[in-house]
Amino acid sequence: MNNFLLEISDLHRHYPVSTGPFSLSKATVKALSGVTLYVRKGETLGLVGESGCGKSTLARLVTGLESPDRGTVRFSGKEIPLWDRSELSKKIQMVFQDPYSSLNPRQKVHNVISEGMRIHKMGSTSEIRKRVEELLEQVGLRPEHAERYPHEFSGGQRQRIAVARAIALNPDLVICDEPVSALDVSVQAQVLNLLKTIQAEFELSYLFISHDLAIVSHVSDRVAVMYLGRIMESSASQSLYSNPLHPYTRTLLDAIPVPDPEYEYHSSPLTGDTPSPISPPEGCPFHPRCPHAMKICSETFPHWKEMEPEHFVSCHLY
Ligand code: SF4
Repeated sequence: MNNFLLEISDLHRHYPVSTGPFSLSKATVKALSGVTLYVRKGETLGLVGESGCGKSTLARLVTGLESPDRGTVRFSGKEIPLWDRSELSKKIQMVFQDPYSSLNPRQKVHNVISEGMRIHKMGSTSEIRKRVEELLEQVGLRPEHAERYPHEFSGGQRQRIAVARAIALNPDLVICDEPVSALDVSVQAQVLNLLKTIQAEFELSYLFISHDLAIVSHVSDRVAVMYLGRIMESSASQSLYSNPLHPYTRTLLDAIPVPDPEYEYHSSPLTGDTPSPISPPEGCPFHPRCPHAMKICSETFPHWKEMEPEHFVSCHLY
């Protein structure tokens, strides 16, 4: 029996949009085109890719905020539409990118953290107050911070408050959507370490979404690399970093600075812009930027192949 907490299978999500002068033309944004992923209990899956590749759309489908056009999302073995909405909102929580806009500035920290507990009637007023104080201590803040407002905190402290809010309902899965990209580099490591500590303490699974492979490598057990709404490669973190197979993964890895003059880079830097998801290239969507592109690459999307146990790639080179 597998121990998958989250299973995403062949997920498609396209959006109609208006384009052109006076928005008179109609087009389709292909945000997700056949994404398959899984997250096991207690592990972190890092989902990495450039801005606009479909990562945040995937998060909305997993939380049930939107429905897919095709494909399924199963959580704890049950498809998302079959879940009671209220129950699902306890089991899956999110930490967002921007701690400056994700916390209500007019609410005291106590109310920010306790909102979900009050909605779900998880104890008396005094029990909830005590729980908020415990949560604040668990994320490295002090009980008296409950009476302050979000603007009285630094960005890193606000993200700690967001983490406390996320774990208040004892979720099984936390989706971290670029949780440190709005923070100073000096603060990022502290928040990442907090997420790791909290994960061990609460036996959480994370879907950790980021454009930054260096950050993803710091926190993930496995990594999936996404490009224009498709997964290009996925494997255990160690295997991905020691043996990257997909040309796109190699360019992402080579963008991470290595303080070693002897280090041999895998590929040349990525050139050109990411094509628009309104009209993604036929075949392999990476072919206009790929140094290894062949004729077949512009004609046929490559199959998903398992090259070694749990190391999958979608590329005609294999
Ligand atoms: Fe490059 Fe072709 Fe592989 Fe796509 S399928 S990454 S274009 S070699």
